[in-house]
Amino acid sequence: MHRVSESKEVDTASRRSFIKSVGNAAALSAIGITVMDSLSADLQRVSQSDPTAVALKYVHDASTVPASLRPQTDRYCNNCALYVGGKDDEWAGCSIFPGKSVAGKGWCNVWVRKQES
Ligand code: SF4
Repeated sequence: MHRVSESKEVDTASRRSFIKSVGNAAALSAIGITVMDSLSADLQRVSQSDPTAVALKYVHDASTVPASLRPQTDRYCNNCALYVGGKDDEWAGCSIFPGKSVAGKGWCNVWVRKQES
């Protein structure tokens, strides 16, 4: 009898602990998303005349790039592995331009396919 009661107490404590950790993980995740969004929003937009942007042929609007430079018309910053934002973000960070943001519909010639998750 005593063991059943102890077992229930352990189960209840484990359940509480589990629920608490799931709650903490969800809260941390929400904070992480909020911090990332605010960080991207605070970044200065890279200029197309930035020397690195010029060297990499970066543009804010990929549709303006001649087909000879960008034959694969489905390539945009927002589906590049180096884009820090999500596919629906208009502007977000890029590993090539530390501290700056690039346009989701932009492109440059080091585009790398983002792996599906
Ligand atoms: S590396 Fe990718 S995300 Fe960065 S500017 Fe080039 S295409 Fe856009």
